[in-house]
Amino acid sequence: MASSLSITFHGHACFVLEADGRRIVIDPFLTGNPAADIPVDRLPKVDAVLLSHGHGDHLSDAVPIAKRDGATIVATFELAAFCTTRGASAHAMHIGGAHEFPFGTVKLVPAIHGGMVEGDEAGRFTTHPCGCVITMGGTRIYHCGDTALTMDMQLLEGHVDVMLVPIGDNYTMGIEDAVRAVRFVMPKVAIPMHYGTFPVIEVDPERFRKAASAHTQVVILHPGESWTS
Ligand SMILES: [Zn+2]
Repeated sequence: MASSLSITFHGHACFVLEADGRRIVIDPFLTGNPAADIPVDRLPKVDAVLLSHGHGDHLSDAVPIAKRDGATIVATFELAAFCTTRGASAHAMHIGGAHEFPFGTVKLVPAIHGGMVEGDEAGRFTTHPCGCVITMGGTRIYHCGDTALTMDMQLLEGHVDVMLVPIGDNYTMGIEDAVRAVRFVMPKVAIPMHYGTFPVIEVDPERFRKAASAHTQVVILHPGESWTS
């Protein structure tokens, strides 16, 4: 069944995916994001909010958006539990598990990063960051989340069409490791993310394009731009 998927970048690690009349947002960091092209009130209505982890530059607007749109937050169990304490509805999953939603399928995969949850003052929620493999409109998208290069990525070879890969270094993989990650996964398309938002993660995405182009098609999206399958 042919249908098309569009992926719109909103800066940092925030992407909107749309297919078959359904729309989801991943890591909605719009408020306070110097790289965002739109404020949160201009984000169109979404069916779900996917979260890779609980840091402020990813969790950010998730709960307000979920409440506004009646959208479901999809996250690892502990982060989902935190979001429900803030009044959002959430679907808890965990790493290794997949679930079919009305908008498509989500599988959570490992990521190596920090587990603090922004706003969890009591420190109750010990969370584990993840990546997400989403199937929508017949396309398989791997949002790596914030992560180091991991051997686990090799397990995804042959299972990913579009890879959303952090390249900004310092907090995540830099360009060199991101290219190795692309070689592990061998997606058809790689879109760099998590760079340029703050001075400490300033890198030139053209360096990534140059180094990764032998292995995949690199598409550099500026905030507000879309890629369509
Ligand atoms: Zn981050």
